[in-house]
Amino acid sequence: MNYNYPNKNGYFGEFGGIFAAETLIPAIKELVSAWDEAKNSKDFLDELNYYHKNYTGRPSNLYYAERLTKYLGGAKIYLKREDLNHTGAHKINHCLGQILLAKRMGKTRIIAETGAGQHGVATATVCALFNMKCVVYQGEIDIERQKPNAFRMKLLGADLIPVKDGSRTLKDAVTAAMQDWVSNIDNTYYLLGSVMGPHPYPEMVRTFQSIVGEEVKEQILKLENRLPDSIVACVGGGSNAIGIFHPFIDYKNTELIGVEAAGLGIDTKKHAATLAKGKKGVFHGMLSYFIQDEDGQIIEPYSISAGLDYPGIGPEHALLRDTKRAKYTAINDSEALDAFYKLSELEGIIPALESSHAVAYAIKTAPKLPKDHIMVVNLSGRGDKDIFTVGKIKGVEL
Ligand SMILES: *Cc1c(COP(=O)(O)O)cnc(C)c1O
Repeated sequence: MNYNYPNKNGYFGEFGGIFAAETLIPAIKELVSAWDEAKNSKDFLDELNYYHKNYTGRPSNLYYAERLTKYLGGAKIYLKREDLNHTGAHKINHCLGQILLAKRMGKTRIIAETGAGQHGVATATVCALFNMKCVVYQGEIDIERQKPNAFRMKLLGADLIPVKDGSRTLKDAVTAAMQDWVSNIDNTYYLLGSVMGPHPYPEMVRTFQSIVGEEVKEQILKLENRLPDSIVACVGGGSNAIGIFHPFIDYKNTELIGVEAAGLGIDTKKHAATLAKGKKGVFHGMLSYFIQDEDGQIIEPYSISAGLDYPGIGPEHALLRDTKRAKYTAINDSEALDAFYKLSELEGIIPALESSHAVAYAIKTAPKLPKDHIMVVNLSGRGDKDIFTVGKIKGVEL
């Protein structure tokens, strides 16, 4: 199987594509050609690398989690420390790439959607850095749930617009951002937060995130003189996972494992396990899997980690799953919460609740694997933002 996707129409096998209102097509076409030009431009890539190195602090460490490994008594576990990036997660990688593209296109106004607020904060950060006007759409309910991030975005100079339609959460924020884009095509760049949406976003965000997997390849060859046996990452829309997976796709001996959020259990209605439970559909500009009811209405996703509760998944993951190149599984809230504690206690690293899903998978499977099995876990972000959620569950007043 050749994984040189997408094709020129933005398809990953049968998934992806461009499903957008007629009025949006000119903006998407402009973006496709700007991206095709930029991705091959040395100036563009040099500038991006400059900011990765000097602003974000790349490369991020590949750290041997020795105490966790000894505690589990099986596979040797490495953590890719995206939590050490400026702003505390992998999202800065695709925000920097996209803001440089927006600048190159002569855009002066950036719009973004956000759920929990992490993508909004990362977008507001790069807008401050590049002196761009920033408008972030966030569901009214999410703003209420994530007050610290709402404040951060404003502090960074963004206009935060509460979305009052529908369920007043992430999916409605994406819809609102797309409507804004239609009306302001000339000066506005839509900075998307994951490997989703219409072409070219899934490919573009993947390219910007692939630096994670490229670094792992170099780092693990230095440390172990070979490639890992398995790579594990949590999956919301799928950007941190595709970033670490993609450079390894042709190395068939490296198993790729994506971990979705099982919430209260995949047989309840409270989860975000799109590949486990979703059906094919078209939403937010792409053909992919979505969790939906019998009438094709999108079901509101749920997870303890706000960053994993997107009702769909990037089209490339849909292809990787259906062709069996990657395997997808789900971890529930309480397993993720245990992992959050375990990694804090054993390694002095407080993981994001999203990343805790990947750590939980390692905790569950490593003891059954031989000691010479090398497993790399993508630690997509740090957990300082989650102490309020965890404190509430544990009855700790903060
Ligand atoms: C947003 C976020 C995720 C989920 O998004 P993906 O696009 O699936 O990577 C995972 N981890 C952290 C820390 C996040 O902030």
